[in-house]
Amino acid sequence: MNNINYSRETEKIIDRNRETGEVPTLLLHACCAPCSSYCLEYLREYFMITVFYYNPNITDAAEYEKRKAEEKRLIAEYNSQVDEGKHIDIMEAPYDPESFLAMAKGLEDAPEGGERCMACYALRLGKTAETAYKCGFEYFTTTLTISPLKSAAKLNEAGETAEEHVLTEHPESHLKFLPSDFKKKGGFQRSIELSHKYGLYRQNYCGCEFSKRGTELHAEIT
Ligand code: SF4
Repeated sequence: MNNINYSRETEKIIDRNRETGEVPTLLLHACCAPCSSYCLEYLREYFMITVFYYNPNITDAAEYEKRKAEEKRLIAEYNSQVDEGKHIDIMEAPYDPESFLAMAKGLEDAPEGGERCMACYALRLGKTAETAYKCGFEYFTTTLTISPLKSAAKLNEAGETAEEHVLTEHPESHLKFLPSDFKKKGGFQRSIELSHKYGLYRQNYCGCEFSKRGTELHAEIT
């Protein structure tokens, strides 16, 4: 049983950087504006953040665009509150749901939180790590640990594996995965408050067509 307090691990890294006066660069994979709201509010004080919108798992193109537009609106709102030097950037990867569907082949009926989701985390964090390395970021992580429906241990494991892969391929790399459990310390509750405050669109399913199907089925039988 993995009992690591990932929230504490984030704090330790922040404390170390504060002691040395560093404000490192961070590529933050984000799935949607509601999940980003608290993560950005928390992290923007300690990192120079670029949001990485890479979500081929959102297989419905209209839904993908809607979530992306909300992400951009939130970032613009946050940027309007601070000096330009503290602005959050956004980087979008090409939209390729085919890569997700190829990965999910044979796992369509896996339950949420099961094998398909582990592969989905690995796909998104792998791409984030690779992009962070290529673009010279110091840290990378994801907003996904804010979800009470997702295992922080599994997500952090996927992040660590992605970091190891980059280090194996590029031994000179100093890229680091930032461990997290953003739902802790009232993070999830704060994301709900911020979503209301900024009128953010909050979807009722994770992202892929299989999770949407599961939500619809649940609604039909309840
Ligand atoms: S349910 Fe969510 S995490 Fe799991 S495969 Fe679908 S989009 Fe990815």
